[in-house]
Amino acid sequence: ITARRSTEATLDLYANVFRHSSEGTIITDADNRIVAVNEAFTRLTGYTLEEVFGKDPRLLASGKSPPEPYRDMWAALDSRGYWQGELWDRHKDGHVYPKWIAITRLRSRSGKTTHFFASFTDISERKEMDERISRLAHHDPLTGLFNRFSLQGRLDQILLTAHREGRQAAVMFIDMDHFKAIKDTLGHHVGDHLLIEVARRLRDAVRESDIVARAGGDEFVVVLAGIESDASVAAVAEKIVDALGETYRINNQELHSSPSIGISVYPANGADGPALMKCADTAMYHAKAQGRNNFQFFTEEMTASATRRLQIENDLRRALAENQLVLHYQPQIDARPEALCGVEALVRWQHPDEGLVPPDSFIPVAEESGLIVPLGEWVLEEACRQMAEWKANGIPVPHVAVNLSAHQLKSPELVARVAAAISRHELLPGELGLEVTETAAMADPEHAITLLHALGDLGVVLAIDDFGTGYSSLAYLKRLPIRVLKLDRSFVQDIETDDDDAAICAATIALAHTLDIQVVAEGVETEAQRYFLSTVHHCDKLQGYFFSRPLPAAGIEEWLSTIGRVA
Ligand code: C2E
Ligand code: MG
Ligand code: MG
Repeated sequence: ITARRSTEATLDLYANVFRHSSEGTIITDADNRIVAVNEAFTRLTGYTLEEVFGKDPRLLASGKSPPEPYRDMWAALDSRGYWQGELWDRHKDGHVYPKWIAITRLRSRSGKTTHFFASFTDISERKEMDERISRLAHHDPLTGLFNRFSLQGRLDQILLTAHREGRQAAVMFIDMDHFKAIKDTLGHHVGDHLLIEVARRLRDAVRESDIVARAGGDEFVVVLAGIESDASVAAVAEKIVDALGETYRINNQELHSSPSIGISVYPANGADGPALMKCADTAMYHAKAQGRNNFQFFTEEMTASATRRLQIENDLRRALAENQLVLHYQPQIDARPEALCGVEALVRWQHPDEGLVPPDSFIPVAEESGLIVPLGEWVLEEACRQMAEWKANGIPVPHVAVNLSAHQLKSPELVARVAAAISRHELLPGELGLEVTETAAMADPEHAITLLHALGDLGVVLAIDDFGTGYSSLAYLKRLPIRVLKLDRSFVQDIETDDDDAAICAATIALAHTLDIQVVAEGVETEAQRYFLSTVHHCDKLQGYFFSRPLPAAGIEEWLSTIGRVA
């Protein structure tokens, strides 16, 4: 009896464990008919024992699982007596859920199958978590687009298909113009909203089978699968330029941006993802240089010019270190009476192999590479030093003007550096001038106003250079503490032949005078131009080959002694 009591107790215990196990549990007989289920089973499936007793567990299936796991399951149960895996079931209330299930075949001592024992858990939550993790790993959390990582994999896939089918594919590298300015002035929040909207418009502009990814920051990549021709790629690019160029409404503000797009084509421009991305990136760079808001297909010449650019950048870095830069000075002439009123310092590069290189072929590279900052500092320092030397030697040069690039305007140290140069060389107010192009000043007018006031307070004469080539607003012009407008050479050049240019010159002089601003005409080459500007329209100052080309410092002294006209 004691032994039997103990056996009964053990059986009770087993039954309890079975009943209260947190895993759904099913026992079927040798014919796979349900004979027992536990409470967890009812909770997980919605069915009670009465509802399923004697039935095949197949009634739980959703039909969503493919047939393979079932085939595997029976094969494993036959051979090894055990199987576990994932199956999709349908709850009594209709919803489908994934479960992880382990099934064991129970056998009698003689080896005959007597029962099957299965226990399972609902793994919906875990699967959701897995999906979330994989989404995070493959998608950009802000825009929901593919991230850089999954772009690689998908691009490879598309190229493989294109290769197999003998078709082309295109990679577009898209960068939003002036995005940084928008983010800096209106905040991250607005920047983020803009990116989300850009992502939406990009998705709308391409087919479902094309890939849209965010490569980071304001850079996006679109991969077009199976394209017919360059023309069809151009059509999509044009559509994207239009879509992304439309006004954005964010927080009740109207914003404007536009894309610069570089395009590379498989297999013409590269055999694999990295090669194509690099070409598209280079082409994008060209689109920016073309004035943004456009698209460019990659060409071999682009690589050549990128290489050339890099070469110039390296050489220029050396030029700075090895003192290969020189300043030439071009006289500026007071119109009445005609006499030297100052010089403009113009940088040249005394290149060891190529001779004297003009600034137009290296200033843009210096701008893009940031080398313009040390270069600009050198020019400022050298011009101030030369001015002090002329003064010390009694050479009557009353004023030196130095050009500032757009990049230098952004430098927070600019005002301090100019102040330091002035005091180091003991220049008097009015002896140093700074020229800022109209386009650079208008890029960020509010900043320009503050900065130019600070420079003006140092006694610097401020001039707007290349006036007429950009778009400046009169309202801003009035708020800038500028004393001089430099009328761009392109208008002066055609005074004699183009009535419109003549009218622009005359109107600019008149306008400047009503604002109490002096006008320097650039590029005066002929007596007729001098007469029109100075005698007829009372332009204040003149500069150009008619009077003198830019000269080395020693040349200025010589020029002064031969011409002998001094203010
Ligand atoms: P810019 O400031 O408008 O300088 C005037 C340019 O016109 C100079 O060209 C000058 O040589 C040229 N020029 C003057 N008179 C005549 C003329 O009668 N006919 C013709 N055809 N040209 C004339 P340059 O020296 O080649 O400089 C070109 C530009 O490079 C400058 O235009 C300026 O924007 C930039 N630059 C020169 N030096 C510097 C510098 O030190 N720093 C910066 N940031 N830019 C500089
Ligand atoms: Mg200038
Ligand atoms: Mg100019």
